Amino acid sequence: MTTMSYSKLFRVEPGSNVDLGKVDASFKDKHESHKHALPEIEAYVEKMHDLQYLMYAEGKRSLLICLQGRDAAGKDGTINHVLSGMNPQGCSVTGFKVPSAEEAAHDFLWRYHQHAPRKGQVAIFNRSHYEDVLVVRVHELVPKKVWSKRYEQINDFEKMLADNGTHILKFYLHIDPEEQLERFKQRIDDPARHWKISDGDYAERPFWDAYTEAFEAALSHCSTEHAPWFIIPANHKWFRNLAVSKIVAETLDALDMKFPQPTVDINEIKQKYHAIVEAEGTGASDPSQASEKKDKKSKKKKKGKQ
Ligand code: AMP
Ligand code: MG
Repeated sequence: MTTMSYSKLFRVEPGSNVDLGKVDASFKDKHESHKHALPEIEAYVEKMHDLQYLMYAEGKRSLLICLQGRDAAGKDGTINHVLSGMNPQGCSVTGFKVPSAEEAAHDFLWRYHQHAPRKGQVAIFNRSHYEDVLVVRVHELVPKKVWSKRYEQINDFEKMLADNGTHILKFYLHIDPEEQLERFKQRIDDPARHWKISDGDYAERPFWDAYTEAFEAALSHCSTEHAPWFIIPANHKWFRNLAVSKIVAETLDALDMKFPQPTVDINEIKQKYHAIVEAEGTGASDPSQASEKKDKKSKKKKKGKQ
């Protein structure tokens, strides 16, 4: 397993000037193929699973994952992958579309704040508050003097969340124009994907360069120590999944979380257990054997944790 930290490799250095033209969207590190990378991907999914369980149990902090990218960059696929390593009880996913009348009647951050994760939880944003400096900037949905102030307002908002125990990871899924066109074609060719096609995808493609500028501005102004941006090479879906799950696992690992102290006296509970077993004349003589028996029956590796 590679020891290179993807949290370092793909992080946008705070204060740096991003030039997306210099980032290889087809990068796949040392891996030749999905097959070659699979054991590593599975290891990170498993690691995410264990660490998210720990975060849920600890109940002290939370994780916010923001996903941004052009149409067909793979936001939905990434969510599907990340969630495969998480207990749904500890997660929420919110997709942000064109604001409703009520949302539009509030400050632009209002609708996002409500979906920020509670302690112990992971929240995933499918699009996020960055839309308000992306689509809004590209199409001048508000005047420049309004959107240009939002970078700082976003940084302040994220700082406030971070100061309150929320760890923030922001992933820009980087594909190139050829890959986007290829994915549009796959959607046309596959009836099961027809529902994903929207006029919007085709309407936005002519604005490719304007979006590049808007993404570069957001990545440059809003990558901070407390809420870093990561540029994920995403032409290969499997590499994108590998990179995102590795960074999530690395981040959760570094939090050094601890299971809370039990709220009961375990020795006392053991005695109660033995008393029941004796009275009923059945079951295993000690609780560790009982769980071993259960494990043998269960095909699922993680039984007992869910
Ligand atoms: P999708 O994610 O494919 O379902 O598309 C959602 C659409 O909503 C995209 O075209 C986004 O650009 C658009 N959208 C999301 N947030 C905003 C926003 N704050 N203002 C305007 N459009 C938005
Ligand atoms: Mg779309």
